[in-house]
Amino acid sequence: MDTRVQGAMLRPEIETRTPDEQRARDRAAYRRQVAYLFSASTFYQCKLKQFGFKDAAAVGELDDIAALPFTEKEEIRASQAEAPPFGTHLAASRDRLARVFSTSGTTGDPVYIPVTRADIATWVEISSRSYFAAGLRPGMTLVSTYNAGPFVAGVALDTMTSLGVCHVPIGTGNTERLVRALELIRPQGLLCTPSYAMHLAELLAARGAAADRLGLEHIAVAGEPGGGEPQIRHRLQSAFGAMVCEAMGIGDISISLWGECDAQQGMHFCGGDFVHVELIDPQSGRPLAIEDGVQGELVYTALQREAAPLLRFRSRDQVVVFSSSCSCGRKTMRVRCIGRTDDLLIVRGVNVFPTAVRSIVATFAPQVSGALLIRPRKHGVRQEPPLPIVVELASGVEPSEALARAIESAIRAKLVVSTKVELVRCGALPRSEYKTRLVDFSAAQR
Ligand SMILES: [Zn+2]
Repeated sequence: MDTRVQGAMLRPEIETRTPDEQRARDRAAYRRQVAYLFSASTFYQCKLKQFGFKDAAAVGELDDIAALPFTEKEEIRASQAEAPPFGTHLAASRDRLARVFSTSGTTGDPVYIPVTRADIATWVEISSRSYFAAGLRPGMTLVSTYNAGPFVAGVALDTMTSLGVCHVPIGTGNTERLVRALELIRPQGLLCTPSYAMHLAELLAARGAAADRLGLEHIAVAGEPGGGEPQIRHRLQSAFGAMVCEAMGIGDISISLWGECDAQQGMHFCGGDFVHVELIDPQSGRPLAIEDGVQGELVYTALQREAAPLLRFRSRDQVVVFSSSCSCGRKTMRVRCIGRTDDLLIVRGVNVFPTAVRSIVATFAPQVSGALLIRPRKHGVRQEPPLPIVVELASGVEPSEALARAIESAIRAKLVVSTKVELVRCGALPRSEYKTRLVDFSAAQR
């Protein structure tokens, strides 16, 4: 192992700051960024004036940020439709752009994310801290399964080089190539979605191959919630004999922004000096105090962004906060993602995150495989009970009424929601090499 970086943190001088200490330091950067928005971003000049902030002085200090309007992804999309290709929020001249990423366009036309050299350097710095926290180290060999291509995940390549990791990018869509790389190259690290890690564990087990003899030491999972759920983590750690830690980013702000340390008590915020983070109530938009156990949506403000600055950007990621001290020495806030606001179902007034249902179903292992699909009877967020759920059994387990009723009552006890569980045999539900879909509206009525 390389000795260039020793210890538990990549940037101890930054990562040991408390959120209050960080906030005090961020005030100057925030003032500079707001002045930059007024001088360089037509989008923010118009938006802020529309909300009564005529100039940077009127916007005030970082402590007053909650008075400002949010920025929604839809506004960025509309800005690009109105002023193609990069929108009125482009705040750097075209000749200063270094790369233009696209979103995957699964929910509409792709949105371009232009970045300057400095923006890329910022992403690399933040992502390096996050991946380091999640167990990646200089000198380590790492196999990753993300499709970089035109997407922001491309910055993972720059990050691994900067971090001093020997990176073996395999991409998605070819599990045989992945298995071959793991067996021949024998990396210490693997970076993939928790769904793909689970799929790989099942596939190797079905072949009678010993996943725990591949020599993997650290698996960093990202791209969707799940890696921090105790049952999923336990299954992955015992299958591979490796430590499983989570990382999380968001394409518009930084590809990776949070990283979970060996203590496995939530992901640490890694954006100090570059990103200001807030927690809000997603319904009212009101700021929430960052305290142990509080749940809310993450909102981000880039403090040093050149090409596509974002002020109070709504992530739609719902998290639970951990603010107690962590044994690793970092003093930054920690979170576990519990789902996307977009995935939320409201069953007769009760908020239900599909990932919460999955956590409860997973406690029925080894009778269940862990795979499930919520199949709402009608389209939209609001649903009437009982909510139909298809639960897959483990290999060799026969369906039984008693098990179905036991799962229903466990969900009712924990989530206060009534469900109708249908048990299906192992292998009946699809597996994913990327993100697992937990809700299927294909049988729903309009
Ligand atoms: Zn820690």
